[in-house]
Amino acid sequence: MTKQRICIVGDGLSGLMTAVVLAKVPGIEISLIAKKGVKNVDKRTTAISDTNYKFVNQNITSLGSKLFWPSKKIELFYETSKERINFLNLNEANSNLMYVFENDKVKSTLLKEIPKNKIKLIRKDFKNLDELKNYDLIILCVGGQSKFYDNIAKKRSIKKDYKEIAITGYVRHNHKNLNTSQFFLKEGPLAILPFSKNYFSFVWSVKKSFFENNSKRIINLVKGKITELFNFEQDIAISNIQSYPISLRLRRQYHQKNILILGEGLHTVHPVAGQGFNLVLRDIKKLNEIIKYYVGLGISIKNSYALNDFYNSRKPENTIISLGVDATHSFFKQNKYLDPFKEIIIKNIKNNETLKKFSKIISNQGLSL
Ligand SMILES: Cc1cc2nc3c(=O)[nH]c(=O)nc-3n(C[C@H](O)[C@H](O)[C@H](O)COP(=O)(O)OP(=O)(O)OC[C@H]3O[C@@H](n4cnc5c(N)ncnc54)[C@H](O)[C@@H]3O)c2cc1C
Repeated sequence: MTKQRICIVGDGLSGLMTAVVLAKVPGIEISLIAKKGVKNVDKRTTAISDTNYKFVNQNITSLGSKLFWPSKKIELFYETSKERINFLNLNEANSNLMYVFENDKVKSTLLKEIPKNKIKLIRKDFKNLDELKNYDLIILCVGGQSKFYDNIAKKRSIKKDYKEIAITGYVRHNHKNLNTSQFFLKEGPLAILPFSKNYFSFVWSVKKSFFENNSKRIINLVKGKITELFNFEQDIAISNIQSYPISLRLRRQYHQKNILILGEGLHTVHPVAGQGFNLVLRDIKKLNEIIKYYVGLGISIKNSYALNDFYNSRKPENTIISLGVDATHSFFKQNKYLDPFKEIIIKNIKNNETLKKFSKIISNQGLSL
């Protein structure tokens, strides 16, 4: 029987992971187009849920346990004009709440899986969709913004420019037992993500104007803030500082004919809750199930309802979670009129066991409860 041919464009985390997962479906041949001469320098970390970690683990044979740093506890703090309130602690006694990995290391591991899974790697800067007309399915994983999407998703997207910048970096420290934490500070949310014994990464989302006014002293500013938050007595070393503009973009249309958008191109969300790649992994899991089903029945993907099925099963969760993250971000934003009411709500959250349980389930499994 002739194999059905899938072409994936883009070698970010979404493209690489999609290629490695779909390559295991019998009856499929995968090609992956990756830009020529681009170095793997994504010096960021990503936090994924326990369920998503298990999915990644099932699909990458060479995944060393050292690549993923588990976390059993997450602490959340809210800063008022007078104090910093530890308003919610999420704990898990017998399992992990989440895992943090370094993007460049996981990308290198995924790249090693390419030849093992007989994926054809084509190194070129892809320019024209017509080049791919002989494929049964084309999956575009070319990041948040690409001119290719304009011809595919013509319906208007939900869009918002937060006018914020996410500052990211790594911190070397000597502090024992540092927990994963999120500080809702007056400048913006700061996430602390331990990824080894003596390192954590941070994501600090601040107003664009704050970033521009302080661009020359960002390292010292971050250092001072982190030292103060944890009462560090010893010096800490900061490296790999990077910055990313933050926006919200949700596609209303996911595909046209046999061309599908996946990854950041489908949904770009605020990093405050670390949900972007978690949604992508759930998308890949569902796409894999659908493709397996159609190919298993001997139906041509090109002429099937596979992409409609994908759209119908993933759009509700992608929209609800992304807008939920947007609402969380708005809630914690400083607002002199609403802040006194927020303080009352926040002080009451700590003892709400139902809310804690619900937050843990949603961030672990999404809406597939
Ligand atoms: C600050 C920050 C923190 C985050 N933290 C988390 C987190 O903790 N948890 C979480 O779940 N998510 C997080 N995310 C989201 C996560 O980083 C992304 O969802 C993830 O990296 C997937 O990106 P991607 O592969 O879709 O896109 P990209 O990483 O943008 O990759 C796109 C790829 O396409 C390639 N490409 C583009 N054009 C072409 C072309 N013409 N030809 C060939 N190749 C092309 C590019 O070279 C690139 O390799 C965070 C995002 C940000 C900005």
